[in-house]
Amino acid sequence: MKNNILDYELAEEILQKIKEKGIIKEIESLGKTEHGLLIRHYVVGTGNEDIVITGATHGSEIITTDFVIRLMKNISIKKEQWEDILKNFKIHFIPILNPEGYLITTLAIRKLIPKDMPQVEAEKICKRYYNLYKQDDTEEIAQQLEEHEEFKGLKRHQEMFKGIDYNIIPDKYKSIRDSLKEIFDKYPDLPRWCLHTWSANGNGIDIQANCKYNPKISQILQNESIFMNSLRHNNINISHPGPINCPFDKEKGFKTENETEAISNLLETLNKQGKLFAYINYHSTGGFVFQRPPIVPDELSIFQDEILKKEIKNNMFAKLYSNKTYKNIGIDENGNDKKQMSRYIIKTQSSNATSSNDIFRIMYPIDLLIELSGMGGNPIGPYGDIKGNYTNAIKSNLEAIKDTLKLAGIIKMISESTYKFIDKFKDKENYSKVIEIQDMIFDEFIKRKKQLEINLDCDEESQYCR
Ligand SMILES: [Zn+2]
Repeated sequence: MKNNILDYELAEEILQKIKEKGIIKEIESLGKTEHGLLIRHYVVGTGNEDIVITGATHGSEIITTDFVIRLMKNISIKKEQWEDILKNFKIHFIPILNPEGYLITTLAIRKLIPKDMPQVEAEKICKRYYNLYKQDDTEEIAQQLEEHEEFKGLKRHQEMFKGIDYNIIPDKYKSIRDSLKEIFDKYPDLPRWCLHTWSANGNGIDIQANCKYNPKISQILQNESIFMNSLRHNNINISHPGPINCPFDKEKGFKTENETEAISNLLETLNKQGKLFAYINYHSTGGFVFQRPPIVPDELSIFQDEILKKEIKNNMFAKLYSNKTYKNIGIDENGNDKKQMSRYIIKTQSSNATSSNDIFRIMYPIDLLIELSGMGGNPIGPYGDIKGNYTNAIKSNLEAIKDTLKLAGIIKMISESTYKFIDKFKDKENYSKVIEIQDMIFDEFIKRKKQLEINLDCDEESQYCR
C-alpha cells in the first residue's frame, strides 16, 4: 500500500474526484494567494445556518487537510448518515486555507517520502522524525547540538531534511520559489533546512499570527529580535518572514495577507447575513480543544454579557465535541477504558487576543480550534503510528464532528437556558464556577442522551427488550 501523505497536487486530485461525485459542490474560490494559488471553497447542505470548517491554516499541519478531505469523502459516500445534519446546515469546507504553505511543506516531505513509497517504510521515517522532534525539545540534546560544530545551530528534525531548500520548488510555482529565495537571501539567520515546517504562506507570513492585535507587531516595529520559545524552534527568528509565527513583513508595514482576508471575509459575510452558526478551525498537534473567548482588546467594544453567552456556548460545544474524541482504545491494566481516559482536553485558560482566530472568536458565534493529533511533530510526526495514534485521531474526530453537528440544535438550546440561569447568578464573573455549573448540566444531558439511545434501541429491536 502506498503511503497516505497527501502532497498539494494529490490533495487537489482527490478534491476533484470528490467534486465529481456531485454531493459536495465547489463554489467560487475565496480568492487567490499572492502567488496565484486558489483558496478553494466547497459546500454541501441545504440548511439555513452555516458551519465553516478549515484545514491547513498552518501549511505544515498536513493532517488537518487529510482530515477535512476524509470528512468530505465520508459525507459524499455515506450521505444518508448525514441527511439530518445537511437539512439543518450548510457546511463550508476550506480544506487548504494556506495553499502556498501546504505546497512548500509537502514538496519538502516528498523528497523524503516519495508518492510510491510503501506505507510501512513511510511510517518508519515519520516515527524517526517524531522521535528527533521530541529530542529537540529536551535541554540535554539542545545543549549537545550547540556544542556540535556539524549541526551549526540546526535542530535534529531540521538536520533530517538536510539538502532540501527552495530549489526543490518546480518552475510551475516559480513565483513562490523566488519569494522563498528572497527570504533566505535577505535573512541568513534562518535555519536553511526548514521548508518542511513552513507554516507560513509564500511570503513567510503566518496567517494565524497575521492579526493587527498581535502584541508582537509593536515589538517588531521597535526592531526587537524575537525568537521562538520552544527548544525545538528557538533558532527561528519570527521578527522577519520565515517558516513560523511571523505576523507581518516589517519592511512592507502591516498588511492583512490574502489568506487571512479570505477567511475573515467569509465569516463576516455569513455573520452579517445572520447565518453563521459556527467556525471549526483545525490545527495539528496536541489533542486539545481551544474554545475560551480571549480578553477583548480595548479597541473592540463588546458587552460583557455577550462574552458570557459566548463562553457558555463555546464550552458546551467543546464538551460535546471532546466527548467523542480519544487518543487510545482498549482497556488498561487497571480495567479502565482508554477511550474515556484519553479524551481531548478542553483548554479553559484565560489569554490575550493575539491571533486572527482569537478575534473571530470574539466577533462571531461558536468558534472551536481543534488540535487534531495526539502525536506531535509537524508535519509528519502524526503519521508515525498509523494503526494507533493516526487512526484514532481521524476516526474519533470524524465521530466527534458528526455527533456535534447532529446535536447542535439541542446543545444550543441548553446553552441558552444555561445562560439565562447563570446570568442571574451573583458570581457569574467567576469563570471556573460558570464552568462547574456547565459540567453538571452537560453530564446530566449526556446521561439522558444515553438513556434515550437505550430506549430507542429497544424500540428498534423490541423482541429482545421484552
Ligand atoms: Zn497551527
